[in-house]
Amino acid sequence: MSDFIPVNEPVIGEREKELVLECLNTGWISSEGPFVSQFEEAFSRRVGRKHGVACANGTAALELAVNALRLGPGDEVILPTFTIISCAAVIVRAGAIPVVVDADPDTWNMVPELVAAAITPRTAAIMVVHIYGLPVDMDPILELADRRQLAVIEDAAELIGGTYKGRPCGSFGHISTFSFYPNKHITTGEGGMVVTDDPALAERCRSLRNLCFQPKQRFVHEELGWNYRMTNLQAALGLAQLERLEQTLIRKREIGLAYQQAFMNLESIQRPVDTTSYADNLYWVYGILLKDSQASAKTLMQKLALAGIGTRPFFFPIHLQPVFSGMTLFQDVEAPVAEEIARRGLYLPSGLALNALQQSRVIEELIVHG
Ligand SMILES: *Cc1c(COP(=O)(O)O)cnc(C)c1O
Repeated sequence: MSDFIPVNEPVIGEREKELVLECLNTGWISSEGPFVSQFEEAFSRRVGRKHGVACANGTAALELAVNALRLGPGDEVILPTFTIISCAAVIVRAGAIPVVVDADPDTWNMVPELVAAAITPRTAAIMVVHIYGLPVDMDPILELADRRQLAVIEDAAELIGGTYKGRPCGSFGHISTFSFYPNKHITTGEGGMVVTDDPALAERCRSLRNLCFQPKQRFVHEELGWNYRMTNLQAALGLAQLERLEQTLIRKREIGLAYQQAFMNLESIQRPVDTTSYADNLYWVYGILLKDSQASAKTLMQKLALAGIGTRPFFFPIHLQPVFSGMTLFQDVEAPVAEEIARRGLYLPSGLALNALQQSRVIEELIVHG
């Protein structure tokens, strides 16, 4: 269908082409090129951090974070159950124990009180994940982490450029991570970054990213790392996209507010929270919940697909993932909210290339079928 409206389409500008072409013309296409460190410096400065380590994707960034903090066997890491598999995968792969908490029914973010209740003597870290455009309520979590001396990993992939009480998302974790997948506010095709203020953690991430090569004895390794390097071509895209970030954030919020306005009187759906005491929603994606407890997002998604509109379901809870069923993890997890919103939630086309005409069509179809 030629007039299919995809759930996301990125915008690639002239500046991106110019910088990528510069890589091609100069031959600097690997991670050795100059744009990588320029992107690391400019991006980490933008999110209020001292150090940035660019890498292959957002999942790799989480993997670097978990391993730089030396989380491993015996360590429990608290994270939301309503998140992407990447968050749990890197904890399990490091041999540590993921402990999940439920989501808030309105903001869909992890609930600080539940984080407090999940702490045990073995808790080593809290992995905070901002969901869909609203940040997690950070203050109670930071206070708790400080009091119990826990490491904080902040996954800010969905809130590039966002703030909590005026401070940039990505500035709260001992290590914070980002993804530059094409649906994120900045894209490098595939890509990610770890940011921190701790020079030792940054150095460890750099080493783990680059196979733990040693400066003095190349090809002699005392630890195993990964090749998670970002290429100069990707960093060129990132630098150009970063120049436009403020416009991007304005446009994302505009798209979100247009949906909010259009669905104000649509009784069948629960709309996302627009504003809290600590942040405005940036509408990284515009998610909706079907209010009818019998309803399933799947049926509505099929109807919208037939009408030429792409959607995505909400995250499937981590504690219900079949891959973990044989691992004696998540024994007595109670997370009714995450289970409900996973079944009744979906998100609508919210990418930067969505134009007003397309958005009107999405709105009309949702009002008919929703
Ligand atoms: C996109 C995303 C990731 C994964 O990033 P990739 O670059 O696709 O590996 C991790 N965490 C969150 C919250 C994300 O939204």
